[in-house]
Amino acid sequence: MDGITSGETLCLLCRRTIDCDGDALSFVRFISDPADPLAPFDGASFHKDCFARWDRREEYLSRYVAFAGSWKDKLKREE
Ligand SMILES: [Zn+2]
Repeated sequence: MDGITSGETLCLLCRRTIDCDGDALSFVRFISDPADPLAPFDGASFHKDCFARWDRREEYLSRYVAFAGSWKDKLKREE
C-alpha cells in the first residue's frame, strides 16, 4: 500500500494535499493494465469527501472488491 504521508500525499481528485489520515481513503494497487481507464487512480489516496462525490466511485469500488475477491480465492486455493 502506498499509504498516506500527512501533508505530502495528494488527493488525486482535487490535487490538494491530504493533511490527516482520518479525512482520507487509501487503496492498494489493483489494476495491472496501464491502458485501463482507471489506471491513473490505481493505488491512489483520496479525501473522503472527494471520493464520495466522485462520479466513477461505484466503478472503482466494484473493481476493487472484485480484485479483493480474486485475491481471497487465491489464498484459499493455496491452503
Ligand atoms: Zn480531495
